[in-house]
Amino acid sequence: MVGQAYDTKNSISATNPTKKVGLSPDSIINLDQGDPTIFESYWRKMGDKCTTKISGTDCMSYFSDVGNLCWFLEPQLSDAIKGLHRTVCNAVTEDRYMVVGTGSTQLFQAALYALSSPSGNESISVVCAAPYYSSYKEETEFLQSGLYKWAGDASAFDKDGPYIEVVTSPNNPDGAIREAVVNREEGKLIHDLAYYWPQYTPITCPADYDIMLFTFSKSTGHAGSRIGWALVKDKVVARKMTKFIEVSSIGVSKESQLRAAKILGVLIENCKHFGTADSNSFFGYSQGLMTKRWEKLRDVVKNSQIFSLPKYPKEWCNFTGKYTESHPGFAWLKCKEETDFEILLRSQKILTRGGERFGVGRQYVRISLLSQEEAFNLFLERLSAIKGQGIISDENPL
Ligand code: PMP
Repeated sequence: MVGQAYDTKNSISATNPTKKVGLSPDSIINLDQGDPTIFESYWRKMGDKCTTKISGTDCMSYFSDVGNLCWFLEPQLSDAIKGLHRTVCNAVTEDRYMVVGTGSTQLFQAALYALSSPSGNESISVVCAAPYYSSYKEETEFLQSGLYKWAGDASAFDKDGPYIEVVTSPNNPDGAIREAVVNREEGKLIHDLAYYWPQYTPITCPADYDIMLFTFSKSTGHAGSRIGWALVKDKVVARKMTKFIEVSSIGVSKESQLRAAKILGVLIENCKHFGTADSNSFFGYSQGLMTKRWEKLRDVVKNSQIFSLPKYPKEWCNFTGKYTESHPGFAWLKCKEETDFEILLRSQKILTRGGERFGVGRQYVRISLLSQEEAFNLFLERLSAIKGQGIISDENPL
């Protein structure tokens, strides 16, 4: 839990991480979760444009659209999501079933259920190439389901028979653009495209896969609304995913869906002026923020003897009409020294997530770059003071 990781006296408020309390040299900086508060400044600039008014009689029924396969999906949200993908050109939406979930976290579990076979004798293996998003393992193992089981790194998977491979692109934690690695006929794929948005990576083509997961959390930064969506080719799979959500939560909050629809509507409208002098585009703004953070971080890493970061190629982005580099939401930082890097950073009051959680070694850590500015700058200050052998330079700001 976020709150447990914080020293509540000396950190950004745990119960309201978006409320600034001011950081001191003693503060713990929590860059473990990818809480996307970096984008708050854009939405603040939008003022009341995104305000959703919901009266006491609104949203009372369980049902949103009884004629639709996903009967709890609000038509306004479905239209806004299709409009968003048409604007960004990052995914095919034609001839797909859309399933809304309480975050893409719920949809991942719904997809596992939908792709496994209740009549099978054996549970189906779930794999993902390392370094993989740590939550897949946790979510797959949590209920000790007989339907599916976590089988770890897809690159080392050599068992015959059916399997589910999760392909995360761009990848969390390392920002790499990925394809499936097992490539066998019995394989079923889940593409997690949470970060396939212009602020993080060049949009090279509309994604066109069997099951694609997206989330409001990482596209706009509204993680608290808990809205995710799946674009699904196969009707039977979409129906089973819908059933899973029906049984686990009888649908998804209508208030959240309507708010998401409203915010996406404003975002789409603002994209129309992208690239012009009066542009107020969210993606232009957020790409600028991410680019600046990566420049500052690369500068610190360049001046250090012991850290390294992945490099990303420049690719043509169909959305911006430019060659751009990836600026992932996480830094996948490697320490060249033999050390438990997470513990080293913890000693400097920087909370990160160590490589072992992602299926690799302890010399790696994943660091969120989506925090508020103050925490990010303090993190850079502390990082630049680490000079090797865990030794902190004399100019250590602590
Ligand atoms: N997939 C990936 C790759 C993620 O990084 C995250 C969030 N950290 C999720 C899914 C979960 O997103 P949501 O907030 O929609 O549950």
